[in-house]
Amino acid sequence: MNFIPVNEPLLDGNEKKYLNECIDTGWISSEGSFVKQFEEQFAARVGRKHGVAVSNGSVALDAAVAALKISQRDEVILPTFTIISCAAAIVRAGAVPVVVDCDPCTWNMDVTQIEAKITPRTKAIMVVHIYGLPVDMDLVVALADKYGLDIIEDAAEMHGQTYKGRPCGTFGAISTFSFYPNKHVTTGEGGMLLTDDDHLAERCRALRNLCFQPQKRFVHHELGWNFRMTNLQAAVGVAQLERVDEFVARKRHMGQRYTELLSDIPGLQLPVPRTDYAENIYWVYGVVLKDEVPFDAEEAMLRLKKHQIATRPFFWGMHEQPVFKKMGLFDGEFCPVAERITRRGFYIPSGIALTDEQIDQVAHALYELML
Ligand SMILES: *Cc1c(COP(=O)(O)O)cnc(C)c1O
Repeated sequence: MNFIPVNEPLLDGNEKKYLNECIDTGWISSEGSFVKQFEEQFAARVGRKHGVAVSNGSVALDAAVAALKISQRDEVILPTFTIISCAAAIVRAGAVPVVVDCDPCTWNMDVTQIEAKITPRTKAIMVVHIYGLPVDMDLVVALADKYGLDIIEDAAEMHGQTYKGRPCGTFGAISTFSFYPNKHVTTGEGGMLLTDDDHLAERCRALRNLCFQPQKRFVHHELGWNFRMTNLQAAVGVAQLERVDEFVARKRHMGQRYTELLSDIPGLQLPVPRTDYAENIYWVYGVVLKDEVPFDAEEAMLRLKKHQIATRPFFWGMHEQPVFKKMGLFDGEFCPVAERITRRGFYIPSGIALTDEQIDQVAHALYELML
């Protein structure tokens, strides 16, 4: 029995060809032409005016928060059940992250809890689409309009996904993506900010590039970062983007096959295949152990490892993070759904290169684990 990794990307398109072009021409830095091409093609694909490529999806969030001038004591509402990058971007800006719990079925932020958390200090809602289904956006958009808040949309896991037919990545004043190898489109490491606003795009470009000025290059009015993407990364991205529809279809096939194979295992909560606003794209295939199962996710993952199957735990809620507790954040915060699924949930191999045989092997091991 062969080891099944939790993720393996597919790099057998034009990746090598475009990388060779970079090497042959000597264009390997962020000045190369693949960067612009990738930005334009990615933005066009999602349906946004501007794309700003950066070195990863985490710093895309830092740049988004800075571009929107969110700072000292401003509050930003976000789901507790997400990656640390989201809250880190808010905290590093000196602002205050305010969390809401998640929905027990979709694992996305419970949008009905947002309004009660809005205060005069609230500046933005950071939505994060989780694992394959989008956040239920209608209410978020209505609240943002009603209270004059910006939406920052972390669409890192949503390549090719739509909400009621509208592409994910079009809902934010700034929307961000990641191109880590477990995302539907990868550049190894990489990220992108998308916006329709010329001024915000300009700010994102400046922040990415140390806030150098076009005229007086080394005179700075604001602090930026070096968040630039290299031409090598963008070359891989252009090749990957050519196949995004195929990749999304593969992921959907993977999800459907897993669901068919696993749906009669008692004790296992599976991802929701569809809601009235979207069909799951299965960024990862997550499972949650129901309460009656006598072991937790940590134990399940250990046992699957003995069957040569790699897994990853679910996100750990922001309100339970030791690093934020030490800062005095989230004191007394209680998010029962997130607290349960972080302990009972994990995801199984979900990469684009996963074969049907591997899916069957994983399903078989889960049967042995659960019966
Ligand atoms: C992957 C991911 C990120 C971070 O992207 P990196 O490129 O790994 O920094 C941010 N947000 C979400 C929701 C993600 O899944």
